[in-house]
Amino acid sequence: RVTAPEAQEAYDTQALQQLDSAHYLHPFTDHAALRERGARVIVRADDVYLWDSDGKKIIDGMAGLWCVNAGYGRASIADAVHAQLLQLPFYNSFFNTTNVPAVKLAALLAQIAPPQCQHVFFTGSGSEANDTIVRMVRRYWQLAGKPGRDVIISRRNAYHGSTLAGASLGGMAGMHAQGGLPIPGIVHIGQPNYAEEGRGMSEAEFGLHAAGWLEEKILEVGPDRVAAFIGEPVQGAGGVIIPPATYWPEIQRICDKYDILLVSDEVICGFGRLGTWFGCQLMGFEPDLIAFAKGVTSGYVPLGGVLVGSRVAHTLIDKGGDFNHGFTYSGHPAACAAALENIRILQAERLVERVALETGPHLKARFASLTAHPLVGHAETCGLAAGLNLVRRKGQTAHDCEAFPSTQAVGMLCRKHMFDNGVIMRAVGDRMIVAPPLSISVAQIDEMVDRIGYCLDLTLEEVAARGWM
Ligand code: PMP
Repeated sequence: RVTAPEAQEAYDTQALQQLDSAHYLHPFTDHAALRERGARVIVRADDVYLWDSDGKKIIDGMAGLWCVNAGYGRASIADAVHAQLLQLPFYNSFFNTTNVPAVKLAALLAQIAPPQCQHVFFTGSGSEANDTIVRMVRRYWQLAGKPGRDVIISRRNAYHGSTLAGASLGGMAGMHAQGGLPIPGIVHIGQPNYAEEGRGMSEAEFGLHAAGWLEEKILEVGPDRVAAFIGEPVQGAGGVIIPPATYWPEIQRICDKYDILLVSDEVICGFGRLGTWFGCQLMGFEPDLIAFAKGVTSGYVPLGGVLVGSRVAHTLIDKGGDFNHGFTYSGHPAACAAALENIRILQAERLVERVALETGPHLKARFASLTAHPLVGHAETCGLAAGLNLVRRKGQTAHDCEAFPSTQAVGMLCRKHMFDNGVIMRAVGDRMIVAPPLSISVAQIDEMVDRIGYCLDLTLEEVAARGWM
């Protein structure tokens, strides 16, 4: 582990912010608003903490962007990448060639993946993984003699990336509204959001009900036109939406009944986030294809991919000839070296088991205690992902809380208090979410949740002062 130097290097924050707004177009950002505020410049990280250019120390409740599973400051990952860059910085895997880290990583992934997945296709990101899945699924059905099966069913409020296929699979209305999406052949059903849509039902009943939307859509589209269903085990960017336990087994039953491929997007849930190596293992289903990225390298360098189950892999290999698809950086040696060392750390420190047995239950208990706060309507936790809803009036259940008008943007106001007070929480509307590094300790969870509680108090004061409660 490297440690953050005590002495803060001098950064000219204002000059950096000016250059930033003059030249740097950020992802998912309102640039006019950013120019007013100036971007926060993050300069250093260690363990679960970040430092900005003004020397402020911040606990990273979002593990970067759901990806720094092993925590910051892992010198051994940096060393592995450094050594690989000197040995062989790049070579492609296109023309009957391979490289040592990519081979070793493919074999290691086959060991830790669900047993039906013994093959992997590497990409540079989660979006590219989902694009690969769209192409692979359609190629599979061509080879299986049913080229008419080309429709993929996904869910509203899902996030599957920002490429054309990824954004189309995703169910983010704001993304679709910005031009020509979704692309043809992708349709959506509702999300299993019990708090929003399960009124009058038990959780178990709602899980079956929400899975039933898949069967309805299959019958509407025509069973012989449907290629696959894709979902995140727990929806991440949508706001840590945790489905009832009955949901995924019923989805599996429906996919089996209509012979439809089942795809798990594990870009967030993979590599331990939910206390199992892959989220499907916790949720009780066996996907034909798994998208992964983020946690595979803990974000130290970009890498993604698709774990391919035997049904698809054997058809592609035995009958497919060339699969005309691939990226320059598929199986990038330095990225694969980072992943090998990252997975070694997750295994050696038993971080996934710790999420299941120790840190996950602790976060759950601490988040449950936040529901005593006057602003918090309900809170849900799964492994090291958690969300709570800020509400105007609390109710007996999640279904009878009163929300703030969205125009008041209370979530953003709360997020600003968090940032200013040294903790990063993400706002999805008025749902506040965390997904810290899996290396976080119980004491650091306490530190994070104590700060969150304090910032909820500040938010309450501000909301009351504005006469919004
Ligand atoms: N799928 C899911 C579930 C994600 O959360 C994300 C990114 N947040 C993606 C796909 C896209 O991954 P990337 O940003 O690496 O393209």
